Amino acid sequence: MTRLTRWSAAELAARIHAQDITAVDVARAHLDRIAAVDPALHAFLHLDGEVALAAAAAVDDGLRRGNPPASPLAGVPLALKDVFTTVDMPTTCGSRMLQGWQPPYDATVTRRLREAGVVIVGKTNMDEFAMGSSTENSAYGPTRNPWDLDRVPGGSGGGSAAAVAAFEVPLAVGTDTGGSIRQPSAVTGTVGVKPTYGGVSRYGLVAFSSSLDQGGPVARTVLDAALLHEVIGGYDPLDSTSIDAPVPPVVQAARAGAAGDLTGVRVGVVTQFSGDGYQPGVLRAFEVAVSRLRELGAEIVEVSCPSFNHALPAYYLIAPSECSSNLARFDGMRYGLRVGDDGSRSAEEVMSLTREAGFGPEVKRRIMLGTYALSAGYYDAYYGQAQKVRTLILRDFAAAFERVDVLVSPTTPTTAFRIGERVDDPLAMYLSDLCTIPANLAGNAALSVPAGLSDDDGLPVGLQVMAPALADDRAYRVAAAYEVARDGADGGPLAQRVPDLEVIGR
Ligand code: GLN
Repeated sequence: MTRLTRWSAAELAARIHAQDITAVDVARAHLDRIAAVDPALHAFLHLDGEVALAAAAAVDDGLRRGNPPASPLAGVPLALKDVFTTVDMPTTCGSRMLQGWQPPYDATVTRRLREAGVVIVGKTNMDEFAMGSSTENSAYGPTRNPWDLDRVPGGSGGGSAAAVAAFEVPLAVGTDTGGSIRQPSAVTGTVGVKPTYGGVSRYGLVAFSSSLDQGGPVARTVLDAALLHEVIGGYDPLDSTSIDAPVPPVVQAARAGAAGDLTGVRVGVVTQFSGDGYQPGVLRAFEVAVSRLRELGAEIVEVSCPSFNHALPAYYLIAPSECSSNLARFDGMRYGLRVGDDGSRSAEEVMSLTREAGFGPEVKRRIMLGTYALSAGYYDAYYGQAQKVRTLILRDFAAAFERVDVLVSPTTPTTAFRIGERVDDPLAMYLSDLCTIPANLAGNAALSVPAGLSDDDGLPVGLQVMAPALADDRAYRVAAAYEVARDGADGGPLAQRVPDLEVIGR
């Protein structure tokens, strides 16, 4: 394998900007790596070497002419979850409904990446319309976990996480509505961040549940995630829920954290997230992570957030309700697929045939659940109640953050499960997001940082760090300090230990 692909985004950018290596060579090395391993992984739905090499050449040209790099990540390759619109590549959201659809505009995230000189190499696989926890709901087939090809890479952003974990790209962008950045990151040994709601523009992000959806970084190091966060984050007048405030100083926080001192930082361990249903090896890895935080000087306290027990059911009313409304736009008239339009049928019949053929079973389940929850006579009992639970969760977070600076928990109750293991059991699938959903419902910042391997199956475990809204930098500082301590104890970065896919010959 070309060693270039093992470098972090920060290292690659430094060498490119110093003109030790060219962005074109970096892009080529990653495209070669993708060609070698993606047949086994299927992380990408769409690859565009030409677009990537042209973007890389533009960065090299600018540097040769003596221009300063457009951003700290100029020239670095990146993969985009196939839920962000791109004018020069299709956007399918993992659905047959949007097969071959070419959007007429770039998402704000896409535009900011291009302006920053980041080299977009392609679009990554995902559960259909971001509904799922395993990437098995993609209409284009599952992605495999580079740590064990018989296992899922999590979801819905399994393609982005697998691509970063397998050294196909150093960076990716995902979206997190209930955990779709953090849970895949946890089970692939990558860093995944859900910024504060409103921190990254949703313009051009195909909507699933608008009050929860949030784009964010996937990387192999905390610093790389922070660098990407600053490129994609910040106010956007095109998104009505975008926060009109400066991006929290996450790069500065990641650098400060790397000094490895958490003296005076109060860390709360959420008592609700342990016990039955949690894999023993995950809980042991979490305990070790907490003891490292203590060794770094943090003060550890237990914090009870009783409403978190109701987060999952509330989410499965709110998210499907919003989805049933958002997905009404896929009617066979405006985008993508149209079925049965032979002149003999009414518009309603064509819509119905198109939706029958275009949506997979999980999307249909969510639309039915949401339509039911919003229907007259049930609205107050279901949707209304769920919104009240959401308020209680906000209050639990507010009370906790009076006592502590950040909250920690395992990111997900188990390590990566086997492909096929949970497809027939939606509830088991939904439980993957038990620990990540509260931060979506409350809108605050949360990330997952690799916390070593579980001692019962040798697979990656994630440490979740949650911070108050607009205090994303706190989570970065704690995660960066933890990362240094973990690598010191483990004898090197966890991500570098992913099995070499060429060697295992798959
Ligand atoms: N797995 C959760 C769901 O299926 C979360 C998905 C997401 O964050 N997009 O809804």
